[in-house]
Amino acid sequence: MIAFMAQRIGYNGEGVEKMAQDQKKKKNLKTIREWCKGCGICVAFCPVKVLELEDEKVKVLDYDKCTRCGLCELRCPDLAIYLEEDQNE
Ligand code: SF4
Ligand code: SF4
Repeated sequence: MIAFMAQRIGYNGEGVEKMAQDQKKKKNLKTIREWCKGCGICVAFCPVKVLELEDEKVKVLDYDKCTRCGLCELRCPDLAIYLEEDQNE
């Protein structure tokens, strides 16, 4: 039944993965060091643990592992970390 429904709505596991990859390519993770207060909220919420604090400022450990989920941007009270549309796409 699920397979039938998936077929009806055009669900395709590969397609969804490609969409996620395309979405990832379209956004860049940015930080504004001067605005970061070092609260660590983004570090705590990042599901893939690619953020840490260094000298009380947020630091991105691995841009490639960032899934662009946007949780850090959503939770940062100081707008110091955000996702930006890639202008080259
Ligand atoms: S966008 Fe998501 S995965 Fe990337 S740093 Fe922020 S919380 Fe982590
Ligand atoms: S949530 Fe914002 S202010 Fe807090 S550490 Fe992360 S980037 Fe800095």
